[in-house]
Formats: sequence, structure tokens, C-alpha cells
Amino acid sequence: MRYDFASDNTAGICPEALEALLAADRGCQASYGMDDWTAQASDAIRQAFACPQAEVFFVFNGTAANSLALASLCQSYHSVICHEQAHVETDECGGPEFFSNGTKLLLGRGANGKLDANEIDRLVARRSDIHYPKPKVVTLTQSTESGTVYTPAELREVCAHAKRLGLHTHMDGARFANALASLGCSPAELSWRAGIEVMSLGGTKQGMPVGEAIVFFEPTLAEDFAYRCKQAGQLASKMRYLSAPWVGMLQEGVWLRHAAHANAMATRLAEGLRQIPGIELLFPVEANAVFARIDGRVQERLKARGWVFYGFINESGARFVSSWATQPDDVDALLQALREAIIETMAAPSVR
Ligand SMILES: *Cc1c(COP(=O)(O)O)cnc(C)c1O
Repeated sequence: MRYDFASDNTAGICPEALEALLAADRGCQASYGMDDWTAQASDAIRQAFACPQAEVFFVFNGTAANSLALASLCQSYHSVICHEQAHVETDECGGPEFFSNGTKLLLGRGANGKLDANEIDRLVARRSDIHYPKPKVVTLTQSTESGTVYTPAELREVCAHAKRLGLHTHMDGARFANALASLGCSPAELSWRAGIEVMSLGGTKQGMPVGEAIVFFEPTLAEDFAYRCKQAGQLASKMRYLSAPWVGMLQEGVWLRHAAHANAMATRLAEGLRQIPGIELLFPVEANAVFARIDGRVQERLKARGWVFYGFINESGARFVSSWATQPDDVDALLQALREAIIETMAAPSVR
């Protein structure tokens, strides 16, 4: 089976993260995040974001990062506005609602996976009575679940709408590095300078073995957050194994280099798909994910050839995600297999 394009979490550990992990494995270190590696990793994140006052926490995965960050921004009677395709809504098993003791997600629309800023106003203005959970947070995903990116201007607009209505702002940055590499912006420009207060910063899909960071650009919002992590089972006692890979990733722009490579592989795939008659791209390809409309029978034949990928939107939508480890040859092999699957499908007798 070939898992190359099933997701960016099917790849292994990138060399720089692995090297830091192995270096952190030497000798004894303080536990529960009091170690040197965790201090270094936190400093590296603060430095990358040009935000010396930021508070940084390390957790095991993105569901925990999003759920705990959102829970810290609201009470159980509040609500969180997100895009209808947001990971927090579709892929976290109710984690944000659970960890906030019942906060409701309010779903907004928007083209290409991006929340339309006017949806925030609509969802807030819809009701103001006590029978409706009070909107308190807006969360955005960068890059989005559709493989697109919010430009700095789009981010500023969404955050301005949120701020005007007194809402907090959170970013699910599971693929933040891919957005940075795509836009060529600084991390600050795509986060706190645009109005984001708290961010889940992705490590796993960027090439780390495990782990995401939670970054509070507004440190007062981080009050008691360490207790929340501990209670949720997210305080690693050997924290250095979660934090050290960040030191490897953030040195000399390694994370951006890997993200740019993953993006380039997605672009290569998209260009190849455009050459194949009958294939239609569903979204602009702006990061490391490609969504294409492919006949269901062709998809079945591609799967029979061992290629693993996930459907999206409906049975004719397929998603392909590249990573730091994807090679041009992998892209070309997928395209070749797809061309063959199409020829086979055309040659097969049609079923009445
Ligand atoms: C992968 C991903 C996450 C994190 O998912 P986990 O499986 O919990 O680590 C969060 N948000 C988005 C948009 C993702 O793609």
C-alpha cells in the first residue's frame, strides 16, 4: 500500500527533528517541562513569532491543542464560531465541546474553506436573548481544510469583525508552516499582528514525531492554562521529547523549507492533474493539499493499485496531501497510476 498522499501525518520524522530528539535523549533532565529543551523550544517559538511575551505550551496532538485552547477562552454557556468544514467541527469528536463543558460550535459558511467575515456578524446578530449560547470566540484554520490560505488582509478582516463584537480569536495552525511558506509572510504577520490571540501551532504534520504547541500571544489569557493541560492528561512528564523536536524544526528556517517543499509537491501534482482530461480541481491549490473530482470507478481502480487517499465532499471528491518527505517521483507515480486507472475504466464494459 502507498500512503504517500493519504495525509501529511503518514510521513516519518524529518532529519532535523530526529536529530534534536536524539540529542535530547542524552542524560537526565528535569521533568514536566522544567527541562532545558522545553525552555529552548519555547524561546525559539517566541523568537519566530517576534513575540517575547508569548506563553507557550506543548501537548500531544491537535485535538488537544484546539480543545484546550478554545476551552480556555470561554465558559460552558458560550459558543465558538468556525467554518462549517473546520477540523474542530468535523474531526475532533466533540473535543472542544467536551473540554469546555458544553460550549457550542456555531457554523459559518465561506468559499474555499475560508470563513466569510460577514458570517461572524450574522451568527452574532441572529440572537441576543438568554436562550442562545453567547458567541465568545472565532476560530480559523490556516492553511484551511480545503488547502487554501487566508491572506494577511483576509485574516485582519475576520479578526476586526471578531474584535468589534468583543470575541476572542483562535487559529488552528496544524498546517501553519504551509501557509507561511505559501504567502512568504512572517509568522507574526499571519498571527498576532493580524489579530489572532491564541494559536494551535502544528508540529506533527510538519515533520515532528508527535506534538503541537499552544501559543498565547496575549499572556493574560494563559492564566491557569497549565492546570487545564495537566487535568486533561496533556502534561507530559518527559516533556523534552515533545519540545526538543521544535528546536530542530525552528533552527535556520527548517520548518519553512520543509513546508515549501511539501507545497511544491502539491503544485506539481495539481499541474499534472490539470493535464488529465476529466479531472477537475475543486479548490485553488495554495498549500500542500490537492482536492480533485475523479470518477468513482477510477478512484476504485486507483485504490486497487494500492494508493490510499480519502474522499471529500462527496464520492467524486478525492484529497491528496503532500509532506516534507514527498518526492517528485512519488507525484509522478501517482499521476501515472491515475492515467492507467482512467484507461482501464474506459476499456471496462459499462454496467447497465
Ligand atoms: C490534523 C489536523 C489537526 C490535528 O489533528 P490530531 O489528529 O488531533 O492531531 C487539527 N486541525 C487540522 C486542520 C488538521 O488537519
